[in-house]
Amino acid sequence: MSSRARVLILNAALGPLDYRVPAGMEVGPGSIVVAPLGPRQLLGVVWEAERMPSDAEVGDNRLRNLLAVADVPPLGAPLRRLVEWTADYYLAPAASVLRMTLASTSALEGARTAVEYRSTGVVPPRLTPQREQALERIGDRQGLIRELATIAEVSDAVIRGLVKVGAIEAVEVSIDNPYPLPDPQHHEPTLSEDQRAAADVLVAGVAEHAFHPTLLDGVTGSGKTEVYFEAVAQAIRDRRQTLVLLPEIALTEPFLKRFHDRFGCEPIAWHSGLRSTQRRRAWRAIASGEALVTVGARSALFLPYRDLGLIVVDEAHETSFKQEEGVHYHARDVAVMRGKFEGCPVILASATPAIETRQQVVTGRYAELKLPGRFGAAEMPTIEPIDLIKEPPERGRWLAPRLVKAMQETLERREQSLLFLNRRGYAPLTLCRTCGHRFQCPNCTAWMVEHRLTRRLACHHCGHAEPTPRVCPECKGEDTLVACGPGVERIADEVTALFPEAKTAVVTSDTIWSPAKAAEFVGRMEAGDIDIVVGTQLVTKGYHFPNLTLVGVVDADLGLDGGDLRAAERTFQQIRQVSGRAGRGEKPGHVFIQTHSPGAQVMQALITGDADAFYAAETDARKDAGAPPFGRYAAIVVSSEDQSCAHETAKLVGRSAPEVDGMHVYGPAPAPLAMLRGRHRYRLLVHARRALDVQDVIRDWLGKLEWPSKARVTVDVDPYNF
Ligand code: ADP
Ligand code: ZN
Repeated sequence: MSSRARVLILNAALGPLDYRVPAGMEVGPGSIVVAPLGPRQLLGVVWEAERMPSDAEVGDNRLRNLLAVADVPPLGAPLRRLVEWTADYYLAPAASVLRMTLASTSALEGARTAVEYRSTGVVPPRLTPQREQALERIGDRQGLIRELATIAEVSDAVIRGLVKVGAIEAVEVSIDNPYPLPDPQHHEPTLSEDQRAAADVLVAGVAEHAFHPTLLDGVTGSGKTEVYFEAVAQAIRDRRQTLVLLPEIALTEPFLKRFHDRFGCEPIAWHSGLRSTQRRRAWRAIASGEALVTVGARSALFLPYRDLGLIVVDEAHETSFKQEEGVHYHARDVAVMRGKFEGCPVILASATPAIETRQQVVTGRYAELKLPGRFGAAEMPTIEPIDLIKEPPERGRWLAPRLVKAMQETLERREQSLLFLNRRGYAPLTLCRTCGHRFQCPNCTAWMVEHRLTRRLACHHCGHAEPTPRVCPECKGEDTLVACGPGVERIADEVTALFPEAKTAVVTSDTIWSPAKAAEFVGRMEAGDIDIVVGTQLVTKGYHFPNLTLVGVVDADLGLDGGDLRAAERTFQQIRQVSGRAGRGEKPGHVFIQTHSPGAQVMQALITGDADAFYAAETDARKDAGAPPFGRYAAIVVSSEDQSCAHETAKLVGRSAPEVDGMHVYGPAPAPLAMLRGRHRYRLLVHARRALDVQDVIRDWLGKLEWPSKARVTVDVDPYNF
């Protein structure tokens, strides 16, 4: 007996390739194998395997032999279907999707143990500055030599040197340690009537083990987590796996704590900060089915769960579920597809669901469960607008007197305040007051943002940063630079000037960049070690601080600028979420919204709390425009370092657009970020009727074209911005 296998190779923009399976090697669909490709050996997954009665029937003698099979469970059929579906729907190479599944090749290395390194506390006899830096930065962290070198920003050789002199030692870690088993009865809550009713439906859905998408639509503080935990408990009782997707790594820490309170141990957290041994261990436990509950950001979606019983997408409206690089996909939508292929329920939890999700409820494709009120004694906060034209802040300040007074009173009551402004850094624009020079990023169509905490000007798109100059590069004027407009750092300065005694914290991705940092922030908030938080959208999510009673929205008009069809929806979601942080405990919450247009529909909806009217109006606007979910968009972005190459290629793509009934192509026009990371970008926006298979049209259209290798063409199906 001999056989042939069709293998989807990783790291190659190729379709599946055929290989011979050598005698004695056992492979089947889903097996992870090592295959030769040219001079290289690459990982791949068997997509189809055929047994042949005799060697002759394998046919082509030039078929090369597979080299090895990885000692891990094969990828199941539902996951393979998901890979195919994602590749098809988002017009991405299947191998790129598969790469997300295998997560890191190191996950597959056979060993059951790995060697990591950590500091011993021994001070080396010869303490060079580099060694000192390394030991200081490593602290009590543990990892591979390469990982420690990266943390310490020194070469591997420095770390090895430290191992030699005994300052760092090797420790053997097992990657087959069993994970603790969550206990569904560890601490069962007493649910309110509304919560019980919703939980019962969800629990029954898990027990039934069938595909069933549900929108869990509950106001902020209604106890959505508590409710879907009951569904998780059922999956645990059934010994099936649960995946909980969270929008942001910063949210995992509070989640882990709540999970621990409820189930007596932590779930597996999957995020980019895992050391490679941790990653390997988690991947294997997920693949073997031993890891019963996994929580992670969108990358956790493609992992090889052996037997999924439930998928939860928490804060399902969050834009960070939309991946904008590599494979452009929307994790919320792919999660629903995964549930479909796995045959398990999917819960989308949100206090401010996307219009697309609401529409799925309207058409009956998703069920809906509502939690109309906050849990326990907590009431919804009062919301008041502050008209910045009638009640302007003092000159050179950004906080209106009424908000300042409320902050003062909150401080006096020893309660906490939160000021929300969705802008990192000190000021969004810096210019020279003498010559008007503005600092633009050399790689992007974007202003450099001043960060005073680090004394740098930084581009928020490509990460380019330089020290803030004292001298204007244009007119050589000294100390002539002025900051225009506020960022969170500037607001924090204003707060410190107003309330020098108060303890103020800035919360942005600059200050909270790891779960550990998030945990530290939560700890300080809970200990009352912070009086006033100034933060970006990072603080609008998930957090629950009972002593936080005042929320001030510094500039509610900010998100309305772009004027795209999503602007109002996004503003509504953000402000309602951040308002939802106020008064979650027994003390009542108050929200002040600073705006220049208190009469705007979105502001009125926020103030009156009439979400239904707002959604109805927005939905009508989408319907009129034929925008999603009533029509579809796909963006084709052409980019190149060479501007004319990008433009010419974009024009070529535009000229070759097929005439299709129900489809219209706009552009090419400069993309919303016309230059990004040194590449010039042009965008074509394809608008299509809902029923049209627009992917098929685009595949055909681009498939026939040839363009210079300097140009890159990417397609974003269902783009967030349209
Ligand atoms: P949401 O996610 O809807 O904003 P949470 O799940 O964070 O709400 O719940 C808000 C707070 O109320 C949390 O501190 C949670 O522990 C608490 N809570 C909700 N329901 C219950 C319950 N049935 N028993 C005890 N505490 C609850
Ligand atoms: Zn840039």
